[in-house]
Amino acid sequence: MALYVQKFGGTSVGSVERIKAVAEKVKRFRDNGHQVVVVVSAMSGETNRLVDLASQINDEPTPRELDMLVSTGEQVTISLLAMALQKLGVPATSYTGAQVGIQTDSAYTKARIQRIETDDIQSDLDDGQVVVVAGFQGVDEEGNITTLGRGGSDTTGVALAAALKADECQIYTDVDGVYTTDPRVCSKARRLETITVEEMLELASLGSKVLQIRAVEFAGKYNVPLRVLSSFEDGGNGTLIIADTDDEEDSMEEPLISGIAFTANEAKLTLLNTPDVPGVASRILGPIADANIEIDMIVQNVAPAGDYTDFTFTVGKGDYKQTMKILKEQVIPDLGGGELRGDDNIAKVSLVGVGMRSHAGIASKMFRVLADENINIRMVSTSEIKISVVIDEKHMELGVRALHKAFGLDKDDIEQE
Ligand code: ASP
Ligand code: MG
Repeated sequence: MALYVQKFGGTSVGSVERIKAVAEKVKRFRDNGHQVVVVVSAMSGETNRLVDLASQINDEPTPRELDMLVSTGEQVTISLLAMALQKLGVPATSYTGAQVGIQTDSAYTKARIQRIETDDIQSDLDDGQVVVVAGFQGVDEEGNITTLGRGGSDTTGVALAAALKADECQIYTDVDGVYTTDPRVCSKARRLETITVEEMLELASLGSKVLQIRAVEFAGKYNVPLRVLSSFEDGGNGTLIIADTDDEEDSMEEPLISGIAFTANEAKLTLLNTPDVPGVASRILGPIADANIEIDMIVQNVAPAGDYTDFTFTVGKGDYKQTMKILKEQVIPDLGGGELRGDDNIAKVSLVGVGMRSHAGIASKMFRVLADENINIRMVSTSEIKISVVIDEKHMELGVRALHKAFGLDKDDIEQE
């Protein structure tokens, strides 16, 4: 007998039929003698609908009221799922986050879980019940309803699995696992059997939207076995997200590259001929940070003559215009001189893999592959398990496909081995 925490996302509970199908799936696990805690999201589109309703009434609602509102989406799906289970003869009880004792801080709309009371859930499980818990929500010390940030039901699932010491946290979603890259762009993308927490975090923050980043961090911190699976197909293994291996022996066996992430959601800005003196970088980026704009890649050239340098960085596309404005109106007048260039038709493509730690030459191979396709590299940044390049947006898909093939990730290559 195992204890599973199973989380079903919005599309998996998006209609009455889908909810009934989830109930059938849960029932099968229980019929096999397992204990199940189910965490559900709101029906797909529901959270957006609620946020939109709020904006029609008040464009700056207090975060407390916003949480009060958006947390209702999950209350609908927990009760409907419990009813569907009961209809199949499975004893089930639904609970809101507050009822089940998911204690959070008071940071509305992005609250963090501090503690979970497990006694009541445990005794329900021991009574043979399936416990259905609302994802995405909790309660602060004063009893106010809080939410955990968009996509937060994943975090509820992992946190419950950690608190209950579950055998596995299973995230059911509309894809059947984590892929080497987006199959819509590269038809040869294939599902990974396993991926490490570290790689998953890099892929998630680079734009692969399979799991909420915080849920993956949580799983890594508390060593929760986490599996991503399809809620639509039965029998697949999905992808198991495992703790990082520090074992050198093991890492020699690992593929160099596990996945390729990409995004066209950034824009690049360059300040030419800025004075090369201490404090310049912070004088450029300070006003941008003050405007709460997140900066991703940063490159500063070595000043050839020692006096002037070029400074390039990227921001989200949505922040491009405002960043331009800040540079024009605040930074350039402050620094004096400096020509401004901007480009919002760029893409960032990143290779991710713990295997690259112990191997040199990944970067040069990446650059060669892109050069062979006549793709110009505009910026580069690296970390221990990742190499990212900025290229023109129009070359993004070609670049991803060429790299996917060159690094041996294509489906056919693997099957032939
Ligand atoms: N319903 C919430 C959202 O759409 C939480 C979730 O689905 O995980 O963000
Ligand atoms: Mg989600």
